[in-house]
Amino acid sequence: MKQSTDITVFITVSKPSCDECGENLGRGAWITLTKDKKALCLGCADLDHLVFLPSGDAALTRRARKHSTLAAVVIKWSRARHRYERQGLLVENQALDQAEKDCLEDSEARARRREREAQRRAELDREYVEQFALHVRSLFPLCPHGREIAIAEHACLKYSDRIGRSAAAKSFNEKAIRLAVVAHVRHTETAYDELLSKGFERREAREEVIPIVEQVLEKWEWL
Ligand SMILES: [Zn+2]
Repeated sequence: MKQSTDITVFITVSKPSCDECGENLGRGAWITLTKDKKALCLGCADLDHLVFLPSGDAALTRRARKHSTLAAVVIKWSRARHRYERQGLLVENQALDQAEKDCLEDSEARARRREREAQRRAELDREYVEQFALHVRSLFPLCPHGREIAIAEHACLKYSDRIGRSAAAKSFNEKAIRLAVVAHVRHTETAYDELLSKGFERREAREEVIPIVEQVLEKWEWL
């Protein structure tokens, strides 16, 4: 009676490389496996917008799972016990927000949130984010207020994670900006995450949402 369609993320004990982008991920990397058993980094798997909620608070976990369209179970091989052990969940940021609001009386959750936000801010290079956001705004003058910051922050986290930022993104070329906007639109304006959670392969899911992505981009570009 297995009804969960959650994606599984493995914390590896080896040093895998991503079969899509080729990045050497190093020991302890977080990966998913495709149906044909290829390793994908979370960036390539399109899961890098999710936030990690460690196991331990059952109520918060249950609520966050309920509010998240897309979620992934994070597991790690225990050498001592010879089995995979659950480490926590990857969920959407707003699902975790909502779950924490649901647990409002739980002051520990609020403390954890402050900690997480401080950590996230520390990881971001504010000036880079602002510059990136300005470029988004100039390419997509009609994108809703504040979105350019969300897009820029995500792009910045992603690039700082990976390659200390790619040269392309550093020079703010139009293609890099556009890719970041497309990724954002997919996650926020289409059923993409829902399709992934239903087990669609990324390629199928991307194809499925192309018309809507294009519609949104067009709307953001021109009056
Ligand atoms: Zn990759």
